[in-house]
Amino acid sequence: MKAVSYESKHKMAVGSHPKPELKSATDALLRVTTSGICGSDLHMYDGRTGLDKGTVVGHEIMGIIEEVGEGVSSIRPGDRVVLPFNIACGSCFNCHQGNTHACLTMNPESAGAAYGYAGMGPYQGGQAEYVLVPFADFNCLKLPGKEGDEWEDDFLLLSDVFPTGYHAAELANVKPGKTVAIFGAGPVGLLAAHSAMLKGASEVYVVDSIPERLQKAEEFGAIPVDVNDGDPVDQIFALRKKNRPIQESRRPGEEKMAGVDCVIDAVGYQARDDNAPSQEKPMQVLENCLRLVNPTGHVGIIGVYLAPDPGAKDKESKQGVFSFPVAKLFDKALTVGSGQAPVKRYNEYLRDLIVNGRAKPSKIVSHHISIDAAPEAYDKFDKRIDGYTKVLIRFGESKKSKASAA
Ligand code: NAD
Ligand code: ZN
Repeated sequence: MKAVSYESKHKMAVGSHPKPELKSATDALLRVTTSGICGSDLHMYDGRTGLDKGTVVGHEIMGIIEEVGEGVSSIRPGDRVVLPFNIACGSCFNCHQGNTHACLTMNPESAGAAYGYAGMGPYQGGQAEYVLVPFADFNCLKLPGKEGDEWEDDFLLLSDVFPTGYHAAELANVKPGKTVAIFGAGPVGLLAAHSAMLKGASEVYVVDSIPERLQKAEEFGAIPVDVNDGDPVDQIFALRKKNRPIQESRRPGEEKMAGVDCVIDAVGYQARDDNAPSQEKPMQVLENCLRLVNPTGHVGIIGVYLAPDPGAKDKESKQGVFSFPVAKLFDKALTVGSGQAPVKRYNEYLRDLIVNGRAKPSKIVSHHISIDAAPEAYDKFDKRIDGYTKVLIRFGESKKSKASAA
């Protein structure tokens, strides 16, 4: 079968790999119909993880079940399913608590497993024609409709970035009426904005420097903030000040609440320096979050901070150790949440929002490609050029790459 594998820094290859076979009675074999390229894959592509050469990548996967082991009872061949990127056993302590992002048994190295990802266990990825699904009863979400229908893109986004964006809004304690700022208008930040709107936030700001991504944020009802126009935190303070009814209803002392209730870091450790955009500044976004959030507010860290990082500048940052204004965190009495998203906690409900027309995550999709075009798509997505915001690999269609303006 054809699959995308990691070769070296800035090099992905499309090649022939053995088609997976059932190894246990609880496995299923999935024929992939669509697979996403994620911002998380770029950390590996940039050589910023300890990934082995030749690993088949891809953790955003949907398709049609081809075969199931005799121990699988709720999923049948022919079923259309999407896989949470977290692989979970369903029977350990954390899975019982709904914390499938920290499953204790599927990854021998640490808590939490995923398809085709550095440090997340020995699982082949799904940017491939077929993928093996362990504990298929637990790790498949059943979908309505037919392969390639109008929901194909929306459903694919249930594997990761939609539930991840929703989880970011949960970590940041977004509730009806609250004010929210999201740093990063990649797929995760955009779907955090969509989720914050679904949860009833009164103001949602989205910060980035890429015009087409900020425009998508606006399409979801958020207020775009362009880093090119100056310090993004100061811009949000100024925008909030312009809101007359809010200012007129202020009581004494509320000038200390000039920021927002909820902040989300949807960028992570490869954040760009606000003052020198060609350089990275790993703590840039977290520093901005702490300046912007109101006292007693919430910070959701959904952008990834990874170690070991072979591409980092110095010994400490290679281990993910940075200097961080912890006094500000304490002084403001903030609550911080972070980590991988437990996709299974949300994916059924988000599927039903899609099916009932209340959510349209696929607005973020910019390109559909064939697997042969994956190496080039990685390059453009990594450089964030030519409008590459979210790329989906389609299988079983024409082998020619086709860009869609969806
Ligand atoms: P992405 O990498 O394309 O998005 C990042 C965006 O941040 C880009 O648009 C970039 O221009 C912007 N950015 C960079 N520096 C910035 C700064 N200083 N201020 C504001 N914006 C800045 O892709 P993505 O898929 O949206 O992923 C975002 C992050 O979320 C990545 O770190 C990814 O690994 C992570 N992620 C986490 C989970 C999880 O479960 N926690 C799941 C998926 C992705
Ligand atoms: Zn992902």
